Amino acid sequence: MTQDMKVIETLESEVRSYVRSFPTVFTKAKGYKMWDKAGKEYIDFFSGAGALNYGHNDPKMKEKLVEYIMSDGITHSLDMASTAKAEFLNTFNEVILKPRNLDYKIMFPGPTGTNTVESALKLARKVTGRTDIISFTNGFHGMTIGSLSVTGNAMKRKGAGIPLQNTVTMPYDNYVDDHDTLEYLERFLEDSGSGVDIPAAIIAETVQGEGGINAARFEWLKKLEQICKRWDILLIIDDVQAGVGRTGTFFSFEPAGLKPDIVCMSKSLSGYGIPFAITLIRPDLDIWTPGEHNGTFRGNNHAFVTATASLDYWKDDTFEKEIKEKSQIIYESLEKIVKNYPEIKGEVRGRGFMVGIASEVEGLSDKVAAKAFELGLIMETSGPKDEVFKLFPPLNIDEEGLKKGLAIIEESVKSLVK
Ligand code: PMP
Repeated sequence: MTQDMKVIETLESEVRSYVRSFPTVFTKAKGYKMWDKAGKEYIDFFSGAGALNYGHNDPKMKEKLVEYIMSDGITHSLDMASTAKAEFLNTFNEVILKPRNLDYKIMFPGPTGTNTVESALKLARKVTGRTDIISFTNGFHGMTIGSLSVTGNAMKRKGAGIPLQNTVTMPYDNYVDDHDTLEYLERFLEDSGSGVDIPAAIIAETVQGEGGINAARFEWLKKLEQICKRWDILLIIDDVQAGVGRTGTFFSFEPAGLKPDIVCMSKSLSGYGIPFAITLIRPDLDIWTPGEHNGTFRGNNHAFVTATASLDYWKDDTFEKEIKEKSQIIYESLEKIVKNYPEIKGEVRGRGFMVGIASEVEGLSDKVAAKAFELGLIMETSGPKDEVFKLFPPLNIDEEGLKKGLAIIEESVKSLVK
């Protein structure tokens, strides 16, 4: 048996809970490129499902991490104070919060996206003394029972095999054509005496990633915030996937002018693919009793080190400008594909570097992603019927890599329709 066969056999014994759509064994990755065992090079438009916004093995972060490891820096410190933790907190305050005029307390809720969502839901219920949470159609917030209960995906919810209570799903923006879906929400709140109580919180993504790259309009998001204020409901923005620059600004809600009560962040926050999450909490809402929400892996100092280094990208507005410019290249190229290949019945969706083409042709998006993989491009599909092929290039990809990847997408579409 060859060594490659052995690796694949080992993988076959992995629990198949994730759709395995990339049939090879990877060995190495740098920037926007990945290589498999056969030495084949791939362009990465997947970015670890949004966990690698700065690409693989960013040299500056690697250098800081290696330096830290070589100096025997503490790796795991739970709630203990460490210099790496202090540096992260200071840098996040100075580079991210203060210039945006945002005032939050920073909580370490556990290592992943689902942990920050759990902490947000729990805190909202504790602060308000209410139990219900409103979430939106096609929203995605995680896989634990709390975060799953606010996830608008029937397949994933049924998988849990248990009733998920105290949640209400409302239509997201654009869910009903030409309707202001927030009117339903307002009507519902006004009519709350007839059935459901006023909720503790409303949780929303500004652009739904797993739900099919649905970008809510800024006016819709602003109105959502106003409704929350009017009814004294906490607004939780789940920026796990849309945050850390993915939509063009550090927080996805910045251009809409929101100041959410609670913000959930994870994925690219460590900058290096190391599990890391924070929950940002309006200072007056921090009523946790010590020990009420804890967990072992909340003090990963390697993540503090790389996250601090990653914030260098945000010290001025150069990176934001670069993202904006490069995203123009993406949109122009995708609009051209949709126009030149009407057979795919495609629609370009997204904001910034969170982009996709939704195709009305059943199964087409999966085929495009599979063909692109053959041609050396890694990308995922999303949406309730996997109808969207989703482009998530690293934000620091150069123009050459971006154009090469886009050319592969066009080539893949062409080969399937002609
Ligand atoms: N919220 C959003 C918006 C997400 O996209 C995800 C993951 N796809 C999560 C929460 C859950 O994050 P994790 O998988 O790290 O638990």
